[in-house]
Amino acid sequence: MSTELGRFRKWVEESDNIVFFGGAGVSTESNIPDFRSADGLYNQEYEYPPEQILSHSFYIRNSQEFYRFYRNKMLFLDAEPNKAHCVLAELERKGKLKAVITQNIDGLHQKAGSERVLELHGSVHRNYCEHCGKFYTAEDILSLDGVPHCTCGGRIKPDVVLYEEGLDNDILAKAVYYISHADMLIVGGTSLTVYPAAGLVDYYQGKKLVLINKSETAKKADLVIKDSIGKVFESLLLEEHMDQ
Ligand code: NAD
Repeated sequence: MSTELGRFRKWVEESDNIVFFGGAGVSTESNIPDFRSADGLYNQEYEYPPEQILSHSFYIRNSQEFYRFYRNKMLFLDAEPNKAHCVLAELERKGKLKAVITQNIDGLHQKAGSERVLELHGSVHRNYCEHCGKFYTAEDILSLDGVPHCTCGGRIKPDVVLYEEGLDNDILAKAVYYISHADMLIVGGTSLTVYPAAGLVDYYQGKKLVLINKSETAKKADLVIKDSIGKVFESLLLEEHMDQ
């Protein structure tokens, strides 16, 4: 085992107020593409860049094209949690991890059993009629054609924070609280380029900031592990380290 992994395990063992902050890279091992990896959505050819398609103004002006992209590239309803999601849920059950703060919209942390999940960018699993507020599931969105409409005739919008839209203040405040009180902050699978979410990491005040990412990020950390996040979390599974 590498020195980095050994140190990571030791810190997890010592800590009982861990917070995890993650992004799209947490779900690539569940076969959901991220944005900025070599095979991520930014490196695939589209008529418009994903950032533009996933913006509020594009959604308003070009709803048909928005939903074509959204159904093809953002809805992965058969995806299953991977080792990273599962070990994080296990750490929460053991009382070591206090919150998962995610930029992801796929719901995989909850599917793995995590209960305290702060979804900074919303979730594909919640959709509402813009006119009457009626709730729709992600399965409903997949089964409807074109721009999905409610039985009342209103357009249905995913509860996902699009570019140009603001984040929920209550979720942001909770994220700041958990991060600023954490004894260990694990940041993983994120390029830390999407703001304001990425700026939340700066609220951490401790000395155990761990960054697990396959590619370089601009952020400085106390421990940097440049590896697959599933593999890194799987290394915590050895019995003597999970049993307390
Ligand atoms: P990003 O695509 O900008 O960056 C992902 C990072 O994760 C990259 O630096 C990459 O090197 C790393 N990575 C990929 N697979 C990894 C792995 N297995 N192990 C370790 N590192 C890995 O993603 P971001 O920073 O989250 O920002 C993109 C935005 O896109 C977010 O706001 C998010 O809401 C959204 N998004 C979400 C999903 C999802 O819900 N699964 C998928 C795509 C995009």
